[in-house]
Amino acid sequence: MTKRAYNFNAGPAALPLEVLERAQKQFVDYEGTGMSIMEMSHRGAVYEGVHKEAEQRLLSLLGNPEGFKVLFLQGGASTQFAMIPMNLLGEGKVGSYVDTGSWAGKAISEAKLLGETQVAASTKEDNYMRVPTADELQIAPDAAYVHLTSNETIGGVQFKQFPDTGDIPLIVDMSSDILSRPLDMSQFGMIYAGAQKNLGPSGVTVVIAREELVNNSPKHIPTIFRYDTHLSNGSLYNTPPSFAIYMVNEVLKWIEEKGGLEGVERLNEQKANLIYDAIDNSNGFYKGAAHTDSRSHMNITFRLETEELEKAFIKASEQAGFVGLKGHRSVGGLRASIYNAVPYESCKALVEFMQDFQKKHS
Ligand code: PMP
Repeated sequence: MTKRAYNFNAGPAALPLEVLERAQKQFVDYEGTGMSIMEMSHRGAVYEGVHKEAEQRLLSLLGNPEGFKVLFLQGGASTQFAMIPMNLLGEGKVGSYVDTGSWAGKAISEAKLLGETQVAASTKEDNYMRVPTADELQIAPDAAYVHLTSNETIGGVQFKQFPDTGDIPLIVDMSSDILSRPLDMSQFGMIYAGAQKNLGPSGVTVVIAREELVNNSPKHIPTIFRYDTHLSNGSLYNTPPSFAIYMVNEVLKWIEEKGGLEGVERLNEQKANLIYDAIDNSNGFYKGAAHTDSRSHMNITFRLETEELEKAFIKASEQAGFVGLKGHRSVGGLRASIYNAVPYESCKALVEFMQDFQKKHS
């Protein structure tokens, strides 16, 4: 039996063991072709089959929403922070952004370099420890789109519902919670995510967008940064990250086996409740960082009474086989990232460790 760490990394993050083992079997000789998928032409039938399958599986898990297309891009979600305004923020229009923390902030900074922006709502005054309610949003009437971050990976806050933006397309950075729960795609113009948390390894960025939003990029945009380039070439304009896309397809199969998005949502709720209950039942020894109604089911952020105690927690957790529990360097504290592929057993082991640590330190 392979010994697996209790992996709570924020991303790249845990992948399902079943997927890794399946990939291992196919690693050297992909289905009798005498080569690995990495060694094949991206123009050949075998790779193209995998590529199309991954696209279709993604749409199928989302209920085959009408009019949506999948793009497999590179450069991470960070490149989308620039591509979105480049492609979609036309002259005389405003990019409307919801400011919920570090990642939303980065998206705003990039858009400012490229056009007019507006902050529709910000939770800065609450230290970004909650997401705004729909009625806090003040969207400029000439907004080209509204952009928000469904799950702030660093702060640990998550939108439970999405605001209705009417005719203005809602664009959502779902890097850290894509496919963790069912999604009504009719609410969105576009969603996007780097794969390395919920979808597979790093190296591929998934964009799922309404065709009419991405089929007509302004003429002055360089070819590689145009959505319409990738749309009209089926994400095969240039060499795609083929191995990463193959892995995404395998992760999507695994999600199907877990009962699709309803199935993974149930598992994610169980895991998140287990850990939040441990925090809430600790008589204040552990303190949840986010406001209760904005608590993320993917990144659980919490604190101890002092930074010394937090350091001791991290050290002891590492000795006990836990990885990745240190909060992001910009905010400190502790964070357990429990994406789809983190097993319930890891969360249970964490809760037992937390209870044991509390006994020793109170
Ligand atoms: N948005 C969010 C919510 C993220 O968590 C991250 C990465 N942690 C990014 C964007 C940036 O993604 P990438 O590293 O793929 O550029």
